[in-house]
Amino acid sequence: MNNKMYDLGNNRSIIRELFEFSKLQKEKLGSDNVFDFSIGNPSVPPHKKVTEILTSLLTNGDPCYIHGYTSAPGDIEVRENIAKDLNQRFKTSYNYNNIYMTCGAAASLCIVFKALTEDSSNEIIAIAPYFTEYKVFVETQGAKFKVVPANLDTFDINFVELEKMITCNTKGIIINSPNNPSGVIYNAESIKKLSMILKAKEAEYNHPIYIICDEPYREIAYDGIIVPHIPNYYNNTILCYSYSKSLSLPGERIGYVLVPNSATDHEIIYKACLGAGRGLGYVCAPSLFQYLIKEAVGLTSNISLYKENRDLIYTGLTTLGYECIYPDGAFYLFFKSPSGDSYEFMERAKKHNVIVVPSDPFGVKGYLRLAYCVKKDTIINSLPAFAKIIKEYE
Ligand code: PLP
Repeated sequence: MNNKMYDLGNNRSIIRELFEFSKLQKEKLGSDNVFDFSIGNPSVPPHKKVTEILTSLLTNGDPCYIHGYTSAPGDIEVRENIAKDLNQRFKTSYNYNNIYMTCGAAASLCIVFKALTEDSSNEIIAIAPYFTEYKVFVETQGAKFKVVPANLDTFDINFVELEKMITCNTKGIIINSPNNPSGVIYNAESIKKLSMILKAKEAEYNHPIYIICDEPYREIAYDGIIVPHIPNYYNNTILCYSYSKSLSLPGERIGYVLVPNSATDHEIIYKACLGAGRGLGYVCAPSLFQYLIKEAVGLTSNISLYKENRDLIYTGLTTLGYECIYPDGAFYLFFKSPSGDSYEFMERAKKHNVIVVPSDPFGVKGYLRLAYCVKKDTIINSLPAFAKIIKEYE
């Protein structure tokens, strides 16, 4: 038996733990009386065309075709349409050979980490605060996981610490923007600065250092803020995408890895991704949802509803005296525990049936992550509870 796997199965992530706790509380108290901000499950339904396309596929499609295996990297026409859409939006020249269909961002990331690293002498670096599962994904593929401490002033990349952390063993840096959990978007200036540092380090160590950009929230950006397309700034970029959040399809497990031609050894990396997908058992991304994406490429769910939630919760909590990081994207709000202790706040909030996630597993102490991808009423009705909680600190 593999003890590490046992530990992973036996100790659920804190997010899943709180999600399960909140389900039990809802059964006891009624769902309107529990304010569950634990998990990033989209609350906005998929675009109505998603249902129309699926219905048409199921009604008119050949069942053996729509439910059958596609080729290992995914259906060619699906990949072609994704490439065309990216080319239109980002002025790139991708084709289907750059794209490998996967079972969502989690699979994409595991595949890329497996493809790029051989053993624990190879390092993958994340920038705090980071999505908690990165550590699990990197370490399960056998590589070493390292974390750049957060820039607590802006929650932008901490360039000084990043530069110190890169060694001759560094294979890749994970960049997640819009960021889970902070909601921050790294702007073009930051990406340029990051590229300069990485290029200098590549020259110093004489090998490529890849940016692995994890972009499930790419389309969830507010107020016209642009999310830079990182391959346009740094050649050695591999992109992991998912339709879980932008199209509200997290349960359907569909996404892709993009390996641009500009990346050093791109053909070798693409093949290693195929090998990693094969070795990890991700033989074929769900066919029905590949065919959906072929027609739904470029669509998103109604992002403006998340913006309304963002405005409501940010204004609501700051008015009550909470210190919040202003989220430009994704659907998370990061706020400071008034006591400086995130677990203490989490326990106190639970007593008021408010469920928020402590920041420590995201690599930053003393904050809470609130997932505001919930019904508007949940936010409105939770504010009196947040008011009572902060009063207890007076
Ligand atoms: N990366 C980030 C930053 C996430 O927030 C999530 C899910 O919440 C994932 C990856 C995994 O996404 P998927 O459902 O596509 O596997």
